[in-house]
Amino acid sequence: MSLTSYFMEATYLVASILFILSLKMMSHPDTARRGMFLAEGGMFAAIVGTLIGAHIVTWTWIIAGLAVGSIIGAWMAVTVPMTAMPQRTALSHAFGALAAALVGVGEFLVNIAELGPVKRGALGFEIMLGALTTTGSLIAAAKLQGIIQGKPIQFRGQNLLNLSIAVVMAGCFFYFWFDPSATFVFYTMLGVAFVFGVLLVIPIGSADMPVVMSLLNSYAGLAAAATGFVLGNNVLIIAGTLDGFSGFILSVLMCKAMNRSITNVLFGGFGSAVGEATSNAGGIMREISLDDAAMQLAFANRVIFVPGYGLATAQAQHAVRELAELLEERGVGVKYAIHPVAGRMPGHMNVLLAEANVPYSALYEMEQINPEFSSTDVAVVIGANDVVNPDARDNPKSLIAGMPILEVDRAKSVIVLKRGQGRGFSGLENPLFFKSCTAMLYGDAKSSLSHLAQAVQHV
Ligand code: NAP
Repeated sequence: MSLTSYFMEATYLVASILFILSLKMMSHPDTARRGMFLAEGGMFAAIVGTLIGAHIVTWTWIIAGLAVGSIIGAWMAVTVPMTAMPQRTALSHAFGALAAALVGVGEFLVNIAELGPVKRGALGFEIMLGALTTTGSLIAAAKLQGIIQGKPIQFRGQNLLNLSIAVVMAGCFFYFWFDPSATFVFYTMLGVAFVFGVLLVIPIGSADMPVVMSLLNSYAGLAAAATGFVLGNNVLIIAGTLDGFSGFILSVLMCKAMNRSITNVLFGGFGSAVGEATSNAGGIMREISLDDAAMQLAFANRVIFVPGYGLATAQAQHAVRELAELLEERGVGVKYAIHPVAGRMPGHMNVLLAEANVPYSALYEMEQINPEFSSTDVAVVIGANDVVNPDARDNPKSLIAGMPILEVDRAKSVIVLKRGQGRGFSGLENPLFFKSCTAMLYGDAKSSLSHLAQAVQHV
């Protein structure tokens, strides 16, 4: 082995260690930021190793790619708001998967005669997973951005059509595996996989899109790992496998938090933003004035803030921390209740509250905080809806029946901050808002919280 090869393998080893450590650190909010830096360091080491170790044919395309990629990446990092992070992530998956598919096509064009059966198999997987993840992720991004309708797009015989396409794709894969000179079959496999990606994602509603995205993330990782096998590149194999399996585990955890099975997400068609609801909701919603709400908070012993997607859209994380600090100065005990799928991506609330320097020790997970609601004077729901919907617990006919919720309705008093009568992402009405213990404080969450803070100061 030459000196440059040693250097390349050494940087790959460093990169792999950094990736593993970063994943570990990202599993806790306290260390997540440092974990991201380690991951960036790992990626940098992998790029440097590849550029120094590999046989470079021409630098022109590499520099052009680095420049274009960096400009697009920096532009996205600066301009895309936090609330659009899921669709931005879907675009990243699409780019990564397209890169894997294109590398596969390049290997087919240049090196196919030298690839043995194992590498040919890996190449087939790379092409199929890369292509279907590309189009699947683009559809997911378009649904999340509202470019195409978020409702499940379903038609008769859909599952049969999908199955037939999967069979054609698998048939092409085996034909190509036995006969690598079958160029037409290879490109048919590629084309069919692109179509399959579209058909796989259109029947899934946008409420389930984050789960689908982490599954697509997993496919993109496996495509990269397959690319690593074809190219004999260790860091791609390791990073792709880490990505593939962490994405899969995340999908399973998210399904668990929503009490759904993966097969139900993929084939059930749930997730319509305007789903038909069987709901226990009914009656009148009671409104509360700002001064009365401030009075309740100022004289409470224990207050729990329950943030949801509305906190993210309003960017109200700083406002809630300021109000919490004012209450604490008055001797009120303040906690934050975090539902695992509040918001639109895993850890959404943790990230926002950490950004506002809310101490991590004040955040409580669902299992920890639920027993505390009954001894809480005021639960303040900030732009949360589905994650506090008691129908999930009480109404077996509800679309979200069985989804674990934050049991705010057990608190002595509930104040709900939202703009109007908007429903949650499931599209369901929420009986919590009609309960006698609940009062609605209408308005944008950030301005309501700021006004509450001012009013509390005057109590
Ligand atoms: P939600 O059910 O989507 O409800 C958000 C509420 O916030 C809406 O009812 C809306 O009512 C209100 N709102 C929006 N903008 C606001 C603003 N500027 N100020 C005040 N209120 C505002 O949110 P959630 O309770 O957090 O539930 C998350 C949903 O996403 C669940 O259905 C979950 O299953 C799904 N999901 C999440 C993930 C994840 O990883 N986090 C993954 C998959 C699915 P108004 O329009 O009346 O203001």
